[in-house]
Amino acid sequence: MSTVEFTVLGGGTEIGANSYFVSGADTGIILDCGLHPKKEGRDALPDLSILTRPPDVALVSHGHVDHCGAVPYLLRQFPGLFVYTTRPTVSIMDRMLHNSVSVMEMLERNQGVRGYPLYGHDDVGFALRRTDGLEMDYEFALTYQSPVRAEFRSAGHVLGSACILLQFPGHTVFYTGDICLTHQELMRGHDLLEEAIQVDTLICESTRGAQESDDEPSYEDEIERFAAAMTQVLESGGVVLVPAFALGRNQEILNIIARLKRSRMIPRVPVYSSGLGRAIYEIYSDNLDYLGPQANLRPLDEFERVGNVWEPDAVDELLEEPCIIVATSGMMVENTPSAMIAKEMVRSTRHGIFFVGYLDPDTLGYRLLHANTGDKMPFETPGRSVNIRLANRQRFHFSAHASRKDLRRLIEHLNPKNIVFVHGDAPAVEWMAANANGRARKFSPMLGQTIALEA
Ligand SMILES: [Zn+2]
Ligand SMILES: [Zn+2]
Repeated sequence: MSTVEFTVLGGGTEIGANSYFVSGADTGIILDCGLHPKKEGRDALPDLSILTRPPDVALVSHGHVDHCGAVPYLLRQFPGLFVYTTRPTVSIMDRMLHNSVSVMEMLERNQGVRGYPLYGHDDVGFALRRTDGLEMDYEFALTYQSPVRAEFRSAGHVLGSACILLQFPGHTVFYTGDICLTHQELMRGHDLLEEAIQVDTLICESTRGAQESDDEPSYEDEIERFAAAMTQVLESGGVVLVPAFALGRNQEILNIIARLKRSRMIPRVPVYSSGLGRAIYEIYSDNLDYLGPQANLRPLDEFERVGNVWEPDAVDELLEEPCIIVATSGMMVENTPSAMIAKEMVRSTRHGIFFVGYLDPDTLGYRLLHANTGDKMPFETPGRSVNIRLANRQRFHFSAHASRKDLRRLIEHLNPKNIVFVHGDAPAVEWMAANANGRARKFSPMLGQTIALEA
């Protein structure tokens, strides 16, 4: 019997600043180190003060900011730490983290957010020099002396995303990171571990644990519905706006749209995409071997660049002719390209705004989706409220996270002794703990809590 300790530094019973500390065999491992998407300043950081010993190594599952956004801060506290992730994720972190510095500097300047930036461009550079990008399915020793071995397995979520397999002597841990079991347009779904690997402890994401999944439409059915909705708007002279995350959703949606255009399921109109999404797209192009065999990644120059959306004339010009715009941010945070474009679109009745990813109830995107025509809301801060005339606001389901049905399938396959549910709101984590495999010991620890797990 071998015991492993698990501590939540962030992302326990919430979609937070995901970061966990796992220790055993005299080795301390940080799993992910992200920033909280809904908090600002130092409150957005994982709580590193909980650590009772310095970590030996940090492993990063993928490049979304809620998983890697605090890595430069972590390295400032522990400059000797080594960081490992997958090869594409190093390039993605480079883009995402420098962008985070710019966003934090802007928020400090324009809104006086205290504590920003949490780190500078130099810190990002230092962190990346300490970060090694490894291939998937490659087993490595965590440190020179440590008996613990680790391996990244493709998670199927976004480019370079990995699940992390940790082999302590007598205790195997499997961390899902963000996981998707079904194929997307570009990513191949996660391949379940081979039967020979006996997982003792599963650390399982729970993002969609509170969402009914039995009556969900299939991926292809949803694409057909999406195509029909876009066609209706474009044929009546309107513009379609698809707010999308820069990493993952942007590239998936652009390629779905390109396929629909080629197969004449939608009119042949220009397709635009915005800044950071294009930068990440280039990393997709450089790492074709990490995409699924079904992927047919289109060259980036098939999509035109959205101009400066902070100039009202530029947006008006964009809205003159039917076109499709895929722009960040996915949840339409105020002042981002998707919000600035939507601000002009909602004044007219002929356009369509189609959300395709997760929408937190506290975001502008969620409020806009659920608003009535005639409601007023601001799209930038500071800024005036705009009267919503546009009725065609819809939601399509193209998740890059496993449904709860798929998570149960994963759990059944792995049949672990312990399951630790993380990275989900309380109702999601509770549903998972109540409905997953009866034999396992189940835990849903909160921030700061340490649990001892026995193999
Ligand atoms: Zn993610
Ligand atoms: Zn996540």
